[in-house]
Amino acid sequence: MAVVESLAIAIDQEECIGCSACVTEAPETFDMNDDDKAYVKNPPHDELEFIMAAAESCPIEAITITDSAEGKQLFPSD
Ligand code: SF4
Repeated sequence: MAVVESLAIAIDQEECIGCSACVTEAPETFDMNDDDKAYVKNPPHDELEFIMAAAESCPIEAITITDSAEGKQLFPSD
C-alpha cells in the first residue's frame, strides 16, 4: 500500500488511555504528548498499512482514518 496524501487521521484524546500501541505500529505517524495522550505527527510518514495497523491496535478504537479525497472512512469501517 502506498502513502495516501489525503489521509485524515483523528484521535479522540479524551478516550485515549495512553497505551502507545499506535506509536509502536506507526512511529512516524503517532507520538505521545506530555499528558500521555497520542497525537498525529504532521505530516504523517508511515505507509497506509502501518497507519491502519495502528488504528486496529488501539484497544478503545480512538483512532479514525478517513481518505478525505475520496470522502471515505477507512477505519473503523462500517
Ligand atoms: S493505541 Fe489508542 S489508546 Fe493507545 S495511545 Fe494510541 S490512541 Fe491512545
